[in-house]
Amino acid sequence: MRRITTIFIAALLVVGLAAVASADRLQNIKDRGTLICGVKDSVYLFGFVNEDTNQLDGFDVDICKKFADKLGVDVEYKTVTSATRIPMLTQGSIDVAAATMTHKFSRDDVIDFSITYFMDGQKLLVKKDSGIQSTDDLAGKRVGTVKGSTSEKNISQAQPEAKVISYDEYPQAFLALKQGKVHAVTTDSGILAGLKMSDDNPDNWAIVGPYFSAEPYGIGVPENQSNLRDFINKSLVEMWNSGEYHELYKKWFDTEPQGWEMTTWPM
Ligand code: GLU
Repeated sequence: MRRITTIFIAALLVVGLAAVASADRLQNIKDRGTLICGVKDSVYLFGFVNEDTNQLDGFDVDICKKFADKLGVDVEYKTVTSATRIPMLTQGSIDVAAATMTHKFSRDDVIDFSITYFMDGQKLLVKKDSGIQSTDDLAGKRVGTVKGSTSEKNISQAQPEAKVISYDEYPQAFLALKQGKVHAVTTDSGILAGLKMSDDNPDNWAIVGPYFSAEPYGIGVPENQSNLRDFINKSLVEMWNSGEYHELYKKWFDTEPQGWEMTTWPM
C-alpha cells in the first residue's frame, strides 16, 4: 500500500512539474517552433497587406519577425483589431501583440506590456481646407475612430461635444470621412499619416492639431509571463543598440525616432 502511495505521489509530482513547465509561454514557443504574433492587417505602415506580395507587411510585422529570428523559431501572424488584441492575448490564441497598442495602466489589469518601442500621440485627419485646426473646432461635429482604441476615449475627453462614431478598422473611418459622414478621423499621428498616404490623392487631406494625448506603444504579452516579457524587452534593447531598430524605423517612416529614445539598460 505504501509503495502504491509513493508511486501515486511521484506521478502527481511529474504531472505537476509538466504543468508548471508548459505554463512557461516562452518554453511553449520554443517547443512549438513558432511564435504566434498578433498584428493589424489594415493599418498602413504598421500592419497591412502588401498588395504586391499579398503578405502582411509593416513596422510591427517586421519587429515580430525579429523576435522570432532571435529565438530561432518561425513566425505565424494572426490578425487582430484594436478591440480583439487584448482578448486574443488573454485567451492564449496569440503569444504577443505588436499592434499599435498604447501601454496604459488600465490595460495592465489583464495583460502585461514590454518597454515602450514606439512613441506617438493623437491628432486629427481632415479634408484639406476644412477649417478644422484642433479639437476646439469639433464641437457639434462627427468624428470617426475605432472601437477598443484609446483614441475614442481621448477624443471624448478632449471634446465632449463631438459625436464620436467608432468603426472596426481605421480605413472604414477614413472612408466615412471621404463620404462626408464624419468631419474628421482621429487616432495616433503615424496611423493618420498611413491613411493619408494610402489615398490616391494624399494632398486632399491634412493632419492637424497639437497632440492631445501621449501614446507610448508596448508589445502586449500575456499576464505573468516573466520569461517571455524579459525576452521581448531584451530583444528590443538589442535591436536599439545594434541599430536594427533604426533601420526598421527608417524603412517605414523614412526618418529617425524624434524626441524619444528607448529606455535601455546594460545586458
Ligand atoms: N494606440 C492607440 C491604442 O492602442 C490607438 C491605435 C489603435 O487603435 O491601435 O488604442
